[in-house]
Amino acid sequence: MAFVITRPCCNDASCVSVCPVNCIHPTPEEPEFRTAEMLYIDPESCIDCGACVDACPVGAIFPDGELADEDEPYLRLNADYYLDHDGEAGEAPLRRAPKLPDGDVYIAVVGAGPAAFYAAEELVRFGSVQVDMYDRLPTPYGLVRAGVAPDHAATKAVERTFASTERKKNFQYRLDVTVGRDITLDELADRYHAVLHASGASTDKKLGIAGEDLPGSVAATEFVAWYNGHPDHADDVYDLSSERAVIVGNGNVALDVARILLTDPDELASTDIAQHALEALRTSSIREVVILGRRSIADGAYTNSEFLSTGLVDGVDVVIDDADLTVSPQIAAQLDDGTVDSTIGSKVRLAREYAANGTHSADRRVVFRYLTAPTEVLGDSAVTGVRIVRNSYDAQGRVCPTGETSEISTGLVIRSIGYRGQVVDGLPFDEETGTVPNHAGRVVNTEGEHLPGQYVAGWLKRGASGGIGTNRFCGQETASVIVEDIVGGAMPTPPLHRDDVVAMLASRGVLPIDGGGWSNIDKAERTASRAVGSVRRKIVTIAKLREAATGPIPG
Ligand code: NAP
Repeated sequence: MAFVITRPCCNDASCVSVCPVNCIHPTPEEPEFRTAEMLYIDPESCIDCGACVDACPVGAIFPDGELADEDEPYLRLNADYYLDHDGEAGEAPLRRAPKLPDGDVYIAVVGAGPAAFYAAEELVRFGSVQVDMYDRLPTPYGLVRAGVAPDHAATKAVERTFASTERKKNFQYRLDVTVGRDITLDELADRYHAVLHASGASTDKKLGIAGEDLPGSVAATEFVAWYNGHPDHADDVYDLSSERAVIVGNGNVALDVARILLTDPDELASTDIAQHALEALRTSSIREVVILGRRSIADGAYTNSEFLSTGLVDGVDVVIDDADLTVSPQIAAQLDDGTVDSTIGSKVRLAREYAANGTHSADRRVVFRYLTAPTEVLGDSAVTGVRIVRNSYDAQGRVCPTGETSEISTGLVIRSIGYRGQVVDGLPFDEETGTVPNHAGRVVNTEGEHLPGQYVAGWLKRGASGGIGTNRFCGQETASVIVEDIVGGAMPTPPLHRDDVVAMLASRGVLPIDGGGWSNIDKAERTASRAVGSVRRKIVTIAKLREAATGPIPG
């Protein structure tokens, strides 16, 4: 018997640190870790001790003999990784907590998503470090609450890890406070030794083609926020009356959106999906979602794990046409001589398996198109279709358009081509990457000099890539340079004390929500969910969230 890692894997490597035989890879010490789609258990070296199962925060690990039918393919996905990896790894470096100088250190963390929490988790280990976490929303957890798809409940279990940090005595929430509007960065810098910016990447990238802004052409970033009950998008209205939707881009967000559009709404009713989205989906006419990837089946931006799980949605067929199976001459040669990278090899295998499956009996389908790019979103006053061009490979293996164009009719185009960070007032910004320039989390100016007391973590630090667990190591890296700067005396001493912040905010009409307030919201959402049989019924307006934060009215 061996253990197997399945779809919810969050890459946070909690399992790696408890494995006594080092059979889970890549480990954080291995270079591939930063780009790994998921972690894999080597079936040859696993000793079946089960330590990884207990450590996994998202319940993704099972003994091979107890895998659910739909998880069986993960057995091969785990084993495939070891086709071109020998499973050897260096010893993990021994981490010793450094001794901090005497006196309290105050740190403001801006943002309450995964990177913010993973950094805070490291910092609150030191009793003298006081962490105040600010977020513009009345609720914490960033993209775990407002990004992770509602049907991926296991992934959201990572919130338990964050909750154990929020219970620490040296941790405080200051939710419902917009840094840059309610309090300036200078005001924070005057009161905290360090400000750690982890506000993520919340806007969308642009396609730069005609018709992109027509009604009916929407950004996946906003559509995801809508079905997840983000207050900024609670009033959005989407026209789902077309039989077909087209999604541009084939990353994991595209797959999330396709599943939500096609899953039976009765199945979604038990999740934490926003009620307004559930109601809209119940009257949706969409039966087909076409996902456009501009490169080949070897280059899907999705992870294999999510690609696999797309085929497991009840009542939904995955369709790939044989004509879409072309790969570059270089990949074709590597597939022939068996030298192809295992992740790419699995991508090709899974796409070929979908294409070979000729039985398409479901009334809903997701169609993956490859080597296909949009050149124009069509329509006069609203979207009526997309013009696409066929791509091909030149001799150097570069993707280029062939000139062969066609049209797909649709009333809904969802642009899912990635998230982008936004300028933070008072900090340098790299327009090209949508990130704050930094060295290992220390914010730097154009001369590469550290701006004292300013740090960054998460998507704002490294761009919008990687799953939740990737943020663990990103947050830890930033936390470790903060600790280094405390120990090395490189931290500026703030002229003021942070104790006046709440009064200062109140004088501006801003009442921060603290841990008790969040706990009240959480209870209110869970209580409401019981009545409708879901895991959580999200409150989706700022006014109602504020009301819930004050707690139930006595009596
Ligand atoms: P992504 O993974 O970066 O995918 C972006 C997609 O858009 C790619 O297919 C890309 O093609 C395509 N694209 C970019 N510019 C384009 C253009 N001008 N024309 C046509 N296509 C274009 O972004 P994402 O899906 O938003 O995901 C962001 C991150 O969150 C990823 O790391 C993802 O894995 C992670 N995430 C993870 C999960 C999960 O673990 N379940 C769920 C959601 C998101 P190319 O590849 O050719 O550039």
